[in-house]
Amino acid sequence: MTDKSTQKRWTKRNLNGRELDPQTLMMTYGYRPEWSEGAIKPPIFQTSTFVINSAEEGKRFFSLAYGLEEPNEEDDAAGLIYGRINNPNLEILEDRLTLYDGGEAALAFGSGMAAITTTLLALLKPGDLLLHSGSLYGGTDHFIKHVLPRFDIASVWFDKDDSFQDIVERVRASGRADKLAMIYVETPSNPMNTLVDLDMCAELSDTFSTGEQRIPVACDNTFLGPIFQQPIKHGVDIVLYSATKYIGGHSDVVAGAAVGSAGLISEIRGMRTFMGTMADPWTCWLLLRSLETLKPRMQLMSEIAGEVSNFLAEHPKIERIYCLGHLDDDPAQQTIYAKQCQAQGGMISFDVAGGEAEAFRFLNALQIIKLAVSLGGTESLAEHPYTMTHADVSPQDKQSVGLTDKLIRMSIGLEHPDDLIADLDQALAAV
Ligand SMILES: *Cc1c(COP(=O)(O)O)cnc(C)c1O
Repeated sequence: MTDKSTQKRWTKRNLNGRELDPQTLMMTYGYRPEWSEGAIKPPIFQTSTFVINSAEEGKRFFSLAYGLEEPNEEDDAAGLIYGRINNPNLEILEDRLTLYDGGEAALAFGSGMAAITTTLLALLKPGDLLLHSGSLYGGTDHFIKHVLPRFDIASVWFDKDDSFQDIVERVRASGRADKLAMIYVETPSNPMNTLVDLDMCAELSDTFSTGEQRIPVACDNTFLGPIFQQPIKHGVDIVLYSATKYIGGHSDVVAGAAVGSAGLISEIRGMRTFMGTMADPWTCWLLLRSLETLKPRMQLMSEIAGEVSNFLAEHPKIERIYCLGHLDDDPAQQTIYAKQCQAQGGMISFDVAGGEAEAFRFLNALQIIKLAVSLGGTESLAEHPYTMTHADVSPQDKQSVGLTDKLIRMSIGLEHPDDLIADLDQALAAV
């Protein structure tokens, strides 16, 4: 294997001046078969440490890895040192993760929560204020409301009906407007599929940034990204993922990712090195396999979800559907959709007529669609957010985003849409 310092020269992104599409680059970018006996796929580098050629080289590698020296032209990437800092599988994966989102750099983590918590801890300090969108993934909600306050990091939130001015006033009313250090949003949100206007978040950052350093906007892009939503184009600084979901896509791996500017990613990388929240070589290898089919998988899932949601929207036992393909009664959400999303994706939530008992009867009657949390895999899943994924969210917070005990969340997989519809039809008959 050629050493890492020559790797970047092989990351060819264009052909005769024509820029190659990420769809093409997913099979090749960041890896050369000649490094590994001609293997067309990168092998799994199942090793914890790497042999360094000389003590002088070791000194240089550590200096670069710890940011003590600036890299020069020849070593535009740090040498391979130790598995918590780097590994070829990790680096190839991170190179590829930049492509669809158009980020300068990326990081892979051992889980989505590892990506989120490492990012928050890297960029926030005691006394700071975090502004976030209302409906968040349960784990993120817990970390912001129950862990960050222990470090004197306060938070305020906004929901989809708050105007720009409402949000500005809420930040000012917190008494920590001058300490606003991050804007964190999830769009579409889990489990309500509510959209947050990313351009507006960039404007909020402009409003409160004081010159020296821009307040970073972070976006959890797990539900639509990176295929159907690219937040960086809308002024977002850090894009976060649970790669366990669509990116992994086969319900067989837990992982996370962060994509963004070189500067911010380098700060987060520093925290990751000391927290040890990186992804292991085998996880990285699985994600490299998955990224090759990410686009066609997401496209097909979105099409199937379109057919399924059309069926559900007309069903008499369904009171309301929360899905990007059915925003008809909400012009403001439609406007955001048109601006920043390219398709509805595979997530559908809906209220069954009744409450917990009816929702449970429906879930227990499903035959093909599995009762399970998680999402984005090849098989369709359904769950009850009120008592499962979002059990830990306070009743007031649930109420404020419209999350009740009649809500079902579904992730549509790659089964034939007619079979999924038949399963839903018979399960709804049991309600
Ligand atoms: C699953 C999920 C997470 C957490 O990711 P893990 O890989 O389970 O740690 C974060 N955000 C969203 C939107 C998710 O769906």
